[in-house]
Amino acid sequence: MFELIVMACLTGDLSDICTSRILPSPTSLTREECQISAESRAQEWQENHPSLVVTQPTCMMREKSGTAFDLIEIAPGIHVHEGGIGIPSPKNGGDLANLSIVIGDTSVAVIDAGGTRGVAESLYLSIRQLTDKPISHVILTHMHPDHALGAAVFVEAGATLIGHAKLDRGLRARAVNYEASLSTLIGAKGFIGTKAAFPTKSVEENHEIDLGGRLLELRAWPTAHTDNDITVFDRQTKTLFAGDLVFANHTPALDGSLLGWVKVIEQFDWDIDRLVPGHGTPSLSWPEGGEAQRIYLETLANDTRRAIREGERIDKAIEHIAESERENWSLFDEFNIRNATAAYKELEWE
Ligand SMILES: [Zn+2]
Repeated sequence: MFELIVMACLTGDLSDICTSRILPSPTSLTREECQISAESRAQEWQENHPSLVVTQPTCMMREKSGTAFDLIEIAPGIHVHEGGIGIPSPKNGGDLANLSIVIGDTSVAVIDAGGTRGVAESLYLSIRQLTDKPISHVILTHMHPDHALGAAVFVEAGATLIGHAKLDRGLRARAVNYEASLSTLIGAKGFIGTKAAFPTKSVEENHEIDLGGRLLELRAWPTAHTDNDITVFDRQTKTLFAGDLVFANHTPALDGSLLGWVKVIEQFDWDIDRLVPGHGTPSLSWPEGGEAQRIYLETLANDTRRAIREGERIDKAIEHIAESERENWSLFDEFNIRNATAAYKELEWE
């Protein structure tokens, strides 16, 4: 099978910064099929990326078209790419979230798409090493760029982009900032062609996706990690994809409501055999695997309430809130002060 590759370059003073990009198609193509549509598909992609110069459309054997991830099969038909733990950088290329695929009898769902087009292209290639079934859905667990910005690759491959009813608004309000800050952190070259895609199907409360003999249960939550978190439950294997409602190893990041988050986790009422967190080890036992985060959020709330009760000012309080949790988490300095600030502002009005 063959993939269409183009060379994509920045414009103006930066026109020597180029990267090859894969333009996936909804069906697997022979060399001839790829060649017939190559020019028109490259042209269309160029029109959707006016800030790039797109040249050299070439049909390449899939195995040679890029680097696939090594996915971990955590349950039958469920494969996870474990993202790194860190802040976006040229070295990690924005590959910082756990990305999952679920393979049914007739189609494949992708759960979270990675922080850049390059990450998503690698995930796409790793799916195609496993199956030629159509990719029918790309589900974003929430708006954060490390999970969301690669989604266009799967939309181009024919998937319906689906998320929380508040995802569209949240992502549209932030997309320009997300793109600019990630491009700065990762570097322009690694970010070429990355562009937010927006949901065409939204979940108000519950929604089911049928992948053929395999039902995924989507559930939209009130404000917790963000105001647009959804979970995905695979009934067949009792696997819950929690997105960033559950962190492992990586300090939890609060961008919604601390009290809301605690409440949402208490409502995980499925019979869960394993849980895929948004960051960290790709398969957790449940509820044991969520204990560390439960303690962190509880400590964050308790320390914040005490500081407020004692009349401590926010700038002093954030220096020590949840400090006792430091040893238990990676990236503590990068996230805890922000969490403490958000917690203080939320609990001040209790
Ligand atoms: Zn997140």
